[in-house]
Amino acid sequence: MSKANPLQSAVSIASCKLTRSILRRTGRGGTSIPGEIAMKLCPGITETVSDGMEIVVVTGTNGKTTTCNMIRHALISSGRECLLNNSGANLLRGITADLIDNATWTGRSKAHYAVLECDEGALKQVVPLVHPKAVVVTNLFSDQVDRYGSVQNTLKEIRTGIETDPKTILVLNADEPLSASLALGVPNRVIWYGLEESVGVQGNVDLSDAGVCPKCGAEYEYDYHIYAHLGGFRCTSCGYCRVTPQVRVTSIDRIAASGSTVHMITGKKEHEVQIALPAVYNVYNAAAAIGAAGALRIPVQEAIDSLSTVQSAFGRMETFDLDGLRLQMILVKNTAGCNQAFSYLTGLDEDYTAVLCLNNQTGDGHDISWINDTDYEKLCRDPHLKKLFVCGECADELSGRLTKAGAGDDMQQIVRDYNELLPLLKAEGRPVFALPNYTSMMEFRKVLSQATGKHEFWE
Ligand SMILES: [Zn+2]
Repeated sequence: MSKANPLQSAVSIASCKLTRSILRRTGRGGTSIPGEIAMKLCPGITETVSDGMEIVVVTGTNGKTTTCNMIRHALISSGRECLLNNSGANLLRGITADLIDNATWTGRSKAHYAVLECDEGALKQVVPLVHPKAVVVTNLFSDQVDRYGSVQNTLKEIRTGIETDPKTILVLNADEPLSASLALGVPNRVIWYGLEESVGVQGNVDLSDAGVCPKCGAEYEYDYHIYAHLGGFRCTSCGYCRVTPQVRVTSIDRIAASGSTVHMITGKKEHEVQIALPAVYNVYNAAAAIGAAGALRIPVQEAIDSLSTVQSAFGRMETFDLDGLRLQMILVKNTAGCNQAFSYLTGLDEDYTAVLCLNNQTGDGHDISWINDTDYEKLCRDPHLKKLFVCGECADELSGRLTKAGAGDDMQQIVRDYNELLPLLKAEGRPVFALPNYTSMMEFRKVLSQATGKHEFWE
């Protein structure tokens, strides 16, 4: 499998490890430079350092990080060593650097397992080099449109990645018609996961991303909806429809800020499952993680048990303690994710303060037009919402959108500096939900980390 010559790979590994340690010591973690250098010095290095490992690659629009975190937690809880690329670098260079970090100086992997979060567009470069045991696709939504053109292009990019490895097991969301269509025309084994009609939840229905039947081009009909374009879809023209999944969530018995209780059927066995993270979208992430655990042959009960102690990933429902005040941070970067976060907030039975932050930098995909399609009206109607703080470079645009949604001047306040925000939140004295997009999360999180003593991710 490994094509690199030993001297070349040794030089490449050494350069990567040294550059990384220098960058970290000077406070610049999370860059792609070490991986870039390593691949220049030895183009086969990614294959060399991943040789013999069992790897799960996770891609899709929403939920990648949390799903990775759940799979890793299942592996570690059952005593297996596992690498996770948690530095936020999910392109080939960053993944290569993380794999090198996990290798000895001679290129042998230390942890046997790796869970790699992978950008949708980078999948076609990553899969042929790391030969994953499984590829998990969480879902597809319109996101960062200026980078990929459209969600259909993203789907094509993922398909190209999958087609490079017919042996990799696909773990697919049965309820999401776009990513479900990836199973068509490829020989790969598929493990399906999904929520049954019997769970009886329905969030915002938005079929703009549903696409059309890949077999005949007709529009889908739905027997039931879960949220957005997820649910029991079928084509009335040719009969193509949602597959009955192997990992089936049959009921959601409890959803609270501390987590959810659901019933899940895997194979013929029914399990009560405690998921330590709240909200319906995390039920999907949990079901995806169980599917991935199955692909890795981890006993299903071990994987299920681990979900009761899983902790939130960086910025995904991460909890901070602000002098006794609870602040939960939920990364939102598109309409679907944001609507889901609102469903979660408005479903809780407690008064809260909300912080909405919006930037439009490269890491955010530049385009903020998604706020126009997002259901801020739902948030503003919630009687438990007592105060809104609006932050980030695009605070004015966001504030305008909130005014349209019904948030008056007494309800919302623009704050330009995160350092000034913290005392305001404390003065309000209620639990806080912060909903930033990517780069605003990095900025807000830095201020929060300094105030609460949490570390940056590379420390
Ligand atoms: Zn059809």
